[in-house]
Amino acid sequence: MNNHPLLPNHFAGRWQTATDEGTTLFDPVLGTPLVRVGRAGLDLAEGFTYAREQGGAALRALNYKQRAALLTDVVKVLQANRDAYYEIATANCGTVTRDSAVDIDGAIFTLGYYAKQGDALGEAHCLLDGERIRMAKDPVFQTQHVMNPTRGVALFINAFNFPSWGLWEKAAPALLSGVPVIVKPATATAWLTQRMVKDVVDAGVLPAGALSIVCGSSAGLMDQLKPFDVVSFTGSAETARIIRSHPAIAERSVRCNIEADSLNSALLDPTATDGDEAFHLLVSEVVREMTVKSGQKCTAIRRIFVPRALYEPAAKAIAAKLSKCTVGNPRNEGVRMGALVSREQFDGVTSGIAHLKTEAEVLYDGQPTPLVDADANVAACVSPVLLGSRDPESAKVLHAVEVFGPVATLMAYDNEEQAYALVRRGEGSLVCSLYSSDPAFCARATLALADSHGRVHAISPDVAAVQSGHGNVMPMSLHGGPGRAGGGEELGGLRALNFYHRRSAVQASTAALDILAQSASPFQP
Ligand code: NAP
Repeated sequence: MNNHPLLPNHFAGRWQTATDEGTTLFDPVLGTPLVRVGRAGLDLAEGFTYAREQGGAALRALNYKQRAALLTDVVKVLQANRDAYYEIATANCGTVTRDSAVDIDGAIFTLGYYAKQGDALGEAHCLLDGERIRMAKDPVFQTQHVMNPTRGVALFINAFNFPSWGLWEKAAPALLSGVPVIVKPATATAWLTQRMVKDVVDAGVLPAGALSIVCGSSAGLMDQLKPFDVVSFTGSAETARIIRSHPAIAERSVRCNIEADSLNSALLDPTATDGDEAFHLLVSEVVREMTVKSGQKCTAIRRIFVPRALYEPAAKAIAAKLSKCTVGNPRNEGVRMGALVSREQFDGVTSGIAHLKTEAEVLYDGQPTPLVDADANVAACVSPVLLGSRDPESAKVLHAVEVFGPVATLMAYDNEEQAYALVRRGEGSLVCSLYSSDPAFCARATLALADSHGRVHAISPDVAAVQSGHGNVMPMSLHGGPGRAGGGEELGGLRALNFYHRRSAVQASTAALDILAQSASPFQP
């Protein structure tokens, strides 16, 4: 008999505990069992109907300003319980405090941002998209595009690496739009998501049915989706394929957003030298991206492109900084980088590195530095690994395999056009960062690369002190990417509301449109 607490699900408006033993979650550093999650015995149809009917109706009865106030209330609840979240993150995600903050405080910041944006939408119940357009010479008959909250439920199927931010960056625009949320967190790190939902539900700040959680198996969740529901998936490209081909999407036109994996790039200006500030900015950012959350960020830099003459200086400079990164138990204050989230991920990263090595040389692998306060046979800790290729054009694996850990590959390029072509070999990525003192290069590279990236992050010395970071996803900027990154779009300020609204063209008399406008707010993302 397993004595670790079995966490209940909040579903169909009540707390429900699985009728089986569930799955045990572990501390990835100590290897000790923590809690259990599961959903055996839940009536899925009942829970989806409850959220859709009770939660949806209650949220839609409120206006944007009132729903924005709900987000402010959620922020207060999360802030009041912040210490507990940090403890759970240390135990279940193996992260140092600084990395837990990216997930926990990043979520609170995003909720606060949408609370403010939503408040400015005022007391409206729908949004006006653009201006009226005359349909005839006589302006009495016009068309106005309007956006109304969809009358369905938003199902979130989330990845393991952001149990907090992954929930709230989606829930903030959904709840603000008036759409109830059902979240299914990734099993390995579900505890933090469950605890946050528990705190918010127990505080009674949201209407019944507005926020539900189902931990454990995803089986059957997609089967519940109906035409006005939406599903937002974050995870691997492999699972994304299964989601996309589900009948809910293929046959019932359920709206689907996919955030999948990505081989993000950092590109140094072809005219840079190793004495330039741009060079040092790239080196620092690469090291930060490799080590924050042990490289378990979908936006992390995986491929680094430098002019051929700087391949060796860059390798040396990055390796020198990586050698200062202490790895081990996040409870030890001397540790800078904690663990991967599980031993399974450890195995995946180890075999991924071996795969990349078939096309790359090892420039740094952290050996023989021992782990701090952690047993290498138990802890899911890996040292940062910098690989390198002097011939990235003939490489295949390096542009195709995402190793979800503290791993990146340095690559040499010969000219600007070749650099763009190599970056584009990622076949669609979340983000590309540029490092240059030349604004003309930044503009040129942006034109060459923006269509294959959800975000272009151009860093020059004048923005060094204020820039937001290659991998940080900010709520005012779009997150998502074309092609293998999934083709999705999240955040981007009020653009996020698009996904949770249905756009209609209203063709009517000026008098009718005037009355409609009284319930609406202009939509200016
Ligand atoms: P995953 O294995 O694809 O799992 C993602 C989610 O899907 C989990 O909740 C998982 O549940 C669930 N799932 C698994 N099989 C399913 C199925 N057949 N039907 C429906 N749901 C299913 O991905 P992961 O390993 O958690 O996450 C790592 C990946 O996510 C990386 O590739 C990373 O790049 C990507 N990621 C992308 C973004 C982005 O914004 N683009 C952000 C974060 C992560 P269980 O946990 O219970 O299996």
